[in-house]
Amino acid sequence: MSVTAARMRDLVSRAEALTAEVREVCGGAPSGSAEHEHIRAARHAADWLARGVEDLERAAAELERLEALRDQVCGIGWGVCPEHGNTLRSSAGVATCRVCERSWSYDRLGQPCRERVAWKVVDPGGTETRMCGGHVLGARAAMAGASFTQL
Ligand SMILES: [Zn+2]
Ligand SMILES: [Zn+2]
Repeated sequence: MSVTAARMRDLVSRAEALTAEVREVCGGAPSGSAEHEHIRAARHAADWLARGVEDLERAAAELERLEALRDQVCGIGWGVCPEHGNTLRSSAGVATCRVCERSWSYDRLGQPCRERVAWKVVDPGGTETRMCGGHVLGARAAMAGASFTQL
């Protein structure tokens, strides 16, 4: 069973419903009755449940952020070797890496990059760019003073 954001959202709404139900059921115990102490304890438990819901919500939001990132492509205007960066040469519609000699049967060099985003790069002026592992190799050499954060 894999943990997805959707699954976590489902848990959040069930935990919310349970919290609300406990509060509803334990809402009005006449004070002085024999049950009073226990019902008060149950209401206290509902407060803990509510805190648990907040934690679950945070986890769901983080998972959503990661899933969104997974779908995000680099999109820089030219292709790279995922491992070696700006090392492709293109000839007759075939792109080949000069270092590892991996080749692609299309003009990878001439098309926008379709690799997944893996790094956040912030240049000294504060402009943020997200790019794949291959493009970050070239950026490291070209962007002096930029900060690089793996996502
Ligand atoms: Zn390569
Ligand atoms: Zn890229």
